[in-house]
Amino acid sequence: MLIDEVRDVPKDLFIAGEWVAASDGARLEVEDPSDGQVIASVASATVQDAIAAVEAASRAGAAWAAKPPRERGEVLRRAFDLMMTRQEYLASLIVTENGKARDEARGEVAYAAEFLRWFSEEAVRAEGSLSIAPSGAYRMLVLRQPVGVALFVTPWNFPAAMATRKIGPALAAGCTVVLKPASETPLTALALAAIFQEAGVPDGVVNVIPSRSSARVVEAMLRDVRVRKLSFTGSTEVGRTLLAQAAERVVKCSMELGGNAPFIVFADADLDAAVDAALMAKLRSGGESCTAANRFYVETPLAQEFAERLAAKMRQIVVGPGRDARTQLGPLINQRTRAKIDGLVRDAVAGGARVLCGGVPMDGPGYFFPPTVLSSVAREARVLREEIFGPVAPIATFDGMDEAVALANDTEFGLVSFVNTRDLGKALAVAERIESGMVGINRGVVSDPAAPFGGWKQSGLGREGAHDGLLEYLETKYIAASW
Ligand code: NAD
Repeated sequence: MLIDEVRDVPKDLFIAGEWVAASDGARLEVEDPSDGQVIASVASATVQDAIAAVEAASRAGAAWAAKPPRERGEVLRRAFDLMMTRQEYLASLIVTENGKARDEARGEVAYAAEFLRWFSEEAVRAEGSLSIAPSGAYRMLVLRQPVGVALFVTPWNFPAAMATRKIGPALAAGCTVVLKPASETPLTALALAAIFQEAGVPDGVVNVIPSRSSARVVEAMLRDVRVRKLSFTGSTEVGRTLLAQAAERVVKCSMELGGNAPFIVFADADLDAAVDAALMAKLRSGGESCTAANRFYVETPLAQEFAERLAAKMRQIVVGPGRDARTQLGPLINQRTRAKIDGLVRDAVAGGARVLCGGVPMDGPGYFFPPTVLSSVAREARVLREEIFGPVAPIATFDGMDEAVALANDTEFGLVSFVNTRDLGKALAVAERIESGMVGINRGVVSDPAAPFGGWKQSGLGREGAHDGLLEYLETKYIAASW
């Protein structure tokens, strides 16, 4: 559906502080996933445009790195204020191009803006050190300096937060950036570009180039010697491809990739709290979140009651277009995703799973899939092994801590895990043994700009948020000095 907010967004490429058309005039159409209608067309960058963006970032680099850290922080702080002043406007864009419910979109804007506030504070904390060499013969100085031009490739599921989680620390550290947002959700990224400009970010420091030729454009930028850093958020499959390309020039990489989060419920858990946490962990951002609970393992004595209570709550969820005030769950991003989820549910049912609610794609325009709970899911079902990225909760059982840990770790992913029990000692013991970068204990959401977000195993490399997030954009320089 076309809304005023979409009309207001600049629809060209943002390069060197100017809004410019693509060099070949190409455009990219943006759809509203709640009805499949085209809502906008934005300029689609060519390789030539992408290299112009790298050139702009490179030219702006020295002056931005030389700015006092406090000034860089103040620019970020102004951008935070502007984002929060325009929370409703940005939420409307997210609802329209991504489909998530309005409350979720509002929450995303606040979360996204918080990265700018957090890193406005971190800008003045790029500490080094001075020490005496163990031999006593000289001094050891360690400096942290900006990496240089950073290339960002982001997904559609959090159109604002995945951009600010990278731009915030990069600008704080003194780097300049080129952002290639997901083709499905370029409008939010373009609106953010305008906000950065208004906040006083100098020309060329932030460049935003949507493109329908993502693979060619990103590969060309990675070949450019001026690009020193790649930060990618998206699927593990594309992450692997980009890591291989980055290896050619040994570009520093941060990777935030796919997940397959286990949600473990021990028999001694507070059942009401565990069901509420499960709803949060499953339905945040419509289930299209890398931290979404993907596999529910419930200790046998509690399994049936947990499944019934979760299904009772999931049945009450209001599904509809994100713009409707009552909507709690919006559409999936596209038909391909809906078909994939339908296939996962069918596979589970063929393997013996019971459908307690939902289970079948919804009719009508838009890519809706109802909240779904599956119980008695077989261990080998694909729905437990692959990232679902939708509102489907498959439940299987376990007995005892060792089996819970073994099941949780039986995956190539390792982003986040959830543990529910009244016994904090047990929760911490499990948390230590689980192979994931993050663990939620008796809660369904862990994301926080002040926390080091990131995965183990094939879920990623590096961390975003916290002080660690700043370090991703700083090179270490060691100076041996005698005086
Ligand atoms: P995706 O990998 O398909 O796309 C991500 C980005 O890469 C988009 O901008 C896309 O245009 C671009 N891209 C696609 N193919 C490319 C190629 N060959 N070369 C260069 N760029 C390419 O992922 P998606 O479908 O947009 O997002 C969903 C995935 O993102 C899920 O797997 C999810 O778990 C993951 N994700 C991870 C995190 C995290 O922090 N770990 C956060 C959000 C999403």
